[in-house]
Amino acid sequence: MSKYWSELASSLTPYIPGEQPQDKKVIKLNTNENPYPPSSHVLDAIKAASDSDLRLYPDPNCTTLRQTIAAYHGLREQQVFVGNGSDEILALAFAALFKSTSPISFPDITYSFYKVYAQLYNLRYELIPLDDEFNIPLDQIHRPNGGIIIPNPNAPTGKGIAVGRIEQLVAEHREQVVIIDEAYIDFGGESAVQLIKRYPNVLVVHTLSKSRSLAGLRVGVALGHEELIEGLNRVKNSFNSYTLDRLAIAGAVAAYQDEAHFIHHIQKVIHTRERTVAQLRTLGFKVIDSQANFVCMTHVEFEAETLYLALRERGILVRHFNESRIHNYLRVSIGTDSEMDSFIEALTQLLRV
Ligand SMILES: *Cc1c(COP(=O)(O)O)cnc(C)c1O
Repeated sequence: MSKYWSELASSLTPYIPGEQPQDKKVIKLNTNENPYPPSSHVLDAIKAASDSDLRLYPDPNCTTLRQTIAAYHGLREQQVFVGNGSDEILALAFAALFKSTSPISFPDITYSFYKVYAQLYNLRYELIPLDDEFNIPLDQIHRPNGGIIIPNPNAPTGKGIAVGRIEQLVAEHREQVVIIDEAYIDFGGESAVQLIKRYPNVLVVHTLSKSRSLAGLRVGVALGHEELIEGLNRVKNSFNSYTLDRLAIAGAVAAYQDEAHFIHHIQKVIHTRERTVAQLRTLGFKVIDSQANFVCMTHVEFEAETLYLALRERGILVRHFNESRIHNYLRVSIGTDSEMDSFIEALTQLLRV
């Protein structure tokens, strides 16, 4: 606390990101980054854009990038918004599209940033408790409502929702905006992108951080009806007109142009995930079926926190959340086959004691 802080700054409980150690030797399975490099086309495009034009501001509307993404999904440019990571887009969307007249809704076990944004904008929220199988009971969301945000697949469980269920949710809540946070959709989920053509109240949010190996570039995407995109632009342009720099725009365009690289590496991650899940179950872990690039697991005999600390000592970072319903679970990002072999080997030794 400082006497110089505003009432707002004093009132906040900020999000705590997973650690980013400077030591390159650690096996980093804690922030759901992609273990594979981005497309070489991305690196070439960024190098090509590193010229004296950096003296100029970037295109505030990111037109080339928005056109590229629109064509990729079969949408119109006016249905696409881009931002400095999807976290920024979510922050803008809470401000632009959620109302304070009724509480907003999101699951009790979910991406912990939602609560932080709700608090930042002083929005009341009602948590939707997951059932014992970690499904989100979408039919229990109240009406009226200030806005709904659901990640698909959910984090940190990795559980996906069928697009038919998402459509039902969107159709039942036409008076408010429903945000579907699809950060992990490319690893096996069913996207709601095509719903935006029929439902003006759904905003689908994507990121290049996970499936396109570009967490360091900071690019996120929102897809939705023109009116929703205009709302996002109103808030963005009251804050910072240039959220994406010239290099990020160039790199992101190239990322959407290398489909072969994208598909190849997603399939590798999915293959490694399935192999890892089978090995973990052999070791006695209960693993939630995952449609993401991470798994969420618990062991009947060994405390999650003990395993987290012991793995850490062996140079393997995973994520442990100190939250009541999942305190005995670990979230483990899927790395390369060789990283996962080291992880399984370390667990095998730890469980032998
Ligand atoms: C990683 C993640 C994001 C944020 O991604 P960035 O684009 O890197 O900001 C958003 N939502 C969920 C559920 C995530 O896991």
